[in-house]
Amino acid sequence: MTAQIVSRFAPSPTGKLHLGHAFSAIQAHDRARSEGGRFLLRIEDIDGTRSRPEHVATIEADLRWLGLTCDGAVLFQSTRLAAYAVALDRLRGEGLLYPCFCTRAEIAASLSAPHGPGAVYPGTCRHLDEAARAARIAAGAQHAWRINMADAVARTGPLAWNDERAGPVVARPETHGDVVLARKDAPASYHLAVTVDDAAQGVTHIVRGLDLFGATDVHRLLQALLGLPTPVYRHHALLNDADGVRLAKRTHAPTLERLRLAGEDGVALAQSLRAGQVPSGFVTTGFLAPNA
Ligand code: GLU
Repeated sequence: MTAQIVSRFAPSPTGKLHLGHAFSAIQAHDRARSEGGRFLLRIEDIDGTRSRPEHVATIEADLRWLGLTCDGAVLFQSTRLAAYAVALDRLRGEGLLYPCFCTRAEIAASLSAPHGPGAVYPGTCRHLDEAARAARIAAGAQHAWRINMADAVARTGPLAWNDERAGPVVARPETHGDVVLARKDAPASYHLAVTVDDAAQGVTHIVRGLDLFGATDVHRLLQALLGLPTPVYRHHALLNDADGVRLAKRTHAPTLERLRLAGEDGVALAQSLRAGQVPSGFVTTGFLAPNA
């Protein structure tokens, strides 16, 4: 007997959902439900400055409107801080983390211009000695915790993961540099929280947009370091507006709430998205997996 499929939709309640979210949630839902599996909802609300509790009820109403039902209780990341602390302690105890005192401005200034989205942290605080670190922490200096990527990769050796669309992928977490695992302003970063929670919730299939394809290399590394299972991944095409611009909360994409309150039929919308019929004015965009 094959194990039951468990998938999830994991929005951050920093804004209202738009059609791109519907596109993603439907695919995650159907991946599990088409084989009798479970579909979970997780609210990624550890960003205290940007998360708004009032968005949660809207998200739930939007999913119901689309005809998507979730199993079990909704998991809020804000209730999971102790689990993130355990994972951080373990990695810190293994000497793989270091405190980073740099400000955004300092990091930007130390990167050679021009630097784009691919620029990685230059490692400034990795070179501090223990006495300097202890003194700054004792003086109350705000700090994030970064992973020493070179040491971590040396510890795990070569890693791979599997994408249902792209096939086997060789993980290259080193291309991300020393990523942050605990932020100055939040007790865990996206990378840490998502990895710990997917394992805790028994998620077997992670269905999400291609924009997170690269991040999976970091999640695979954390799974190896923390002794967590590796799910199957399925990174789907993104729903873009007709100019090819990705729908994001910051653009003027129509929100699901607006369509719902205008009396549109959410189940019919979900059916047409399933059939590959994208509302006029939108296109789907996939790109070749970078290292597939
Ligand atoms: N919370 C993330 C977002 O809203 C998605 C996380 C994931 O699917 O891994 O973009």
